Amino acid sequence: MEITRTANAGVLLLLDGVSFLLDGVAQELAPYAGTPHHFREQFIKNPPDVVAFTHMHKDHYDENYAEEYRIKTLRPVYGPECLPPKVTQNIEIEAVSTRHIGKTDISHISYIISGSKCVWFMGDASPLMWKNADSFPKPDVVIVPYAYAITSSAWQITKNLGAGEIVLLHLPQRECDEYALWDAVEKTAGSDSSLHIPQIGQTLVF
Ligand SMILES: [Zn+2]
Repeated sequence: MEITRTANAGVLLLLDGVSFLLDGVAQELAPYAGTPHHFREQFIKNPPDVVAFTHMHKDHYDENYAEEYRIKTLRPVYGPECLPPKVTQNIEIEAVSTRHIGKTDISHISYIISGSKCVWFMGDASPLMWKNADSFPKPDVVIVPYAYAITSSAWQITKNLGAGEIVLLHLPQRECDEYALWDAVEKTAGSDSSLHIPQIGQTLVF
């Protein structure tokens, strides 16, 4: 399995030869970076098998790009209003209706993707959504925003999911970290070897 961070809170996941772009093209929303131009071109030239987003906040979704992508590739972009198929090339995709962190009533979907390994992609879902998550298949990898590692109670929920690898997204560049998010994450979870914090453009192989 390969996971390439392509956006502030998005990845290109390659699992059993099938590619999933999840929140993978986003606008810049300072201090959170936007998706580099070369990825935007790459996905139109060579479309992933499934393109989906969790919710319509700009740091997870670029409305103009989604429109351009649909027109140029004639392929769907899945999201809360247009759920992906339950199975694509022998990989199961479970779209889970979840609540966004904090006070917002925006529609939000998290994705559980099961092939030879199981990946949970949370988007901006509240960590509290997963306190009793026994009905879902056990994850090998969870892909979460920094809020899952910023307090010890959230980190405990994250660890209790039982994934061997935890990929943390949504952190700004360290030099633009006006809220000291990096310090909080490192204090809470920095010594845990299951934690990975990829840069935009970096690929993790599990
Ligand atoms: Zn959001």
